[in-house]
Amino acid sequence: MHEVSVAQGLLDIVIENCKKGGYKGVESIKIKVGRASGVVPDSLLFAFDAMKHGTVAENASLTIDEVPVSGFCESCKSYFTVEEAYILSCPLCGDRIFRVETGRELNIYEMDVF
Ligand SMILES: [Zn+2]
Repeated sequence: MHEVSVAQGLLDIVIENCKKGGYKGVESIKIKVGRASGVVPDSLLFAFDAMKHGTVAENASLTIDEVPVSGFCESCKSYFTVEEAYILSCPLCGDRIFRVETGRELNIYEMDVF
């Protein structure tokens, strides 16, 4: 399961930050997960909860903000957002000349420590 290694990576960052900052523990962690990141939020929550025991994040709650996939089309010069995990063509004009702007996020953006 891919989410186990992602959860481990998150924990490593959290533990490292606590060590550096001299914090005793973590209350909550908020992360952004893009729909195109390949991570299933429920699986990640499950993996994180299973792995946090015995670490500084033992009592931490993990909040996952899902980021939809969006992009900018060079052909019709428009920004767009899609519900799917992947963009195959611009939903507005159907062209394939676009760049993906969001949806690949996988990062911590807030951490409450004590
Ligand atoms: Zn377009």
